[in-house]
Amino acid sequence: MADQKLLGIDLGGTTAKFAILTLAGEIQQKWSIQTNILDEGRHIVPDIIDSIRHRLSLYGMTKDDFIGIGMGSPGVIDRKAGTVIGAYNLNWTTLQPVKEQMESALGIPFEIDNDANVAALGERWQGAGENNPDVTFITLGTGVGGGIIAEGHLLHGVVGAAGEIGHVTVEPENGFLCTCGKHGCLETVASATGVVRVAHKLSEEYAGDSKIKALIDDGAEVTSKDIFDAAKAGDAFALMVVDKVCYYLGLAVANIGNLLNPSDIVIGGGVSAAGEFLRERVQKYFDAFTFTQVRQSTRVKLAQLGNDAGVIGAASLARKFIK
Ligand SMILES: [Zn+2]
Repeated sequence: MADQKLLGIDLGGTTAKFAILTLAGEIQQKWSIQTNILDEGRHIVPDIIDSIRHRLSLYGMTKDDFIGIGMGSPGVIDRKAGTVIGAYNLNWTTLQPVKEQMESALGIPFEIDNDANVAALGERWQGAGENNPDVTFITLGTGVGGGIIAEGHLLHGVVGAAGEIGHVTVEPENGFLCTCGKHGCLETVASATGVVRVAHKLSEEYAGDSKIKALIDDGAEVTSKDIFDAAKAGDAFALMVVDKVCYYLGLAVANIGNLLNPSDIVIGGGVSAAGEFLRERVQKYFDAFTFTQVRQSTRVKLAQLGNDAGVIGAASLARKFIK
């Protein structure tokens, strides 16, 4: 019993990542497969089951070696029923009975939650959250997502929409239109595409010399990374763009701090690869927009686990099956 393992799955639109972990959270094996979203995504779960069977036989393991399996998935999750619906990057538009499929095929207890929540659990357990009971995670990638752990519990809200930090309004007037249908969401200005959108907007009124501004004016493609790299190299326009993005982030993160007073607000995802350069600028606005007790007790940190946050957090879901 003591050396039983956890299996974590981080399901995404291009790959499904897997990891076998000890109960203490140490990764022992890691692998991934391509996600085949053809035919309304009906191959996804069977492919995952086949891959797990193959790996267990490779490692000489059986279902009895596992406490449980946890999975993070895009879409709307019914945790009790173990179903997913509306995961459009997986082509899952109809109800998917994932838990039923997994448990009947593998005979291992299964638990599922939203992918951003699962990444939050991972960073809280083994990453920058230092296993503290009050941790908020925010991920800046193609979208902006998040997860809130308060007093040791992951918050879900009445319909599972808690922690959707990407849709916090940071620009109430003249904000960009978001995929959610609202204007001025954090996601429209702080995701990878959001940073570029801010650059395009600010370039209209910027008159000085700038490599990035020149590229935009020429209609060339500019990425979020290009903008951060140019800012680090001292490009005045790029610095202006980064400062604006960090203002929006700092505003959202400060209000999370004012509301929840977590010990740690952890920033992860592709855009956070800009590192301390990003964090210190978010901190500046966090300090400006928080009140004293929060400013002195809530830390703004960079994520530490990178791509492993998802599988580690997913595996942590299965800890509920420990007897
Ligand atoms: Zn939105």
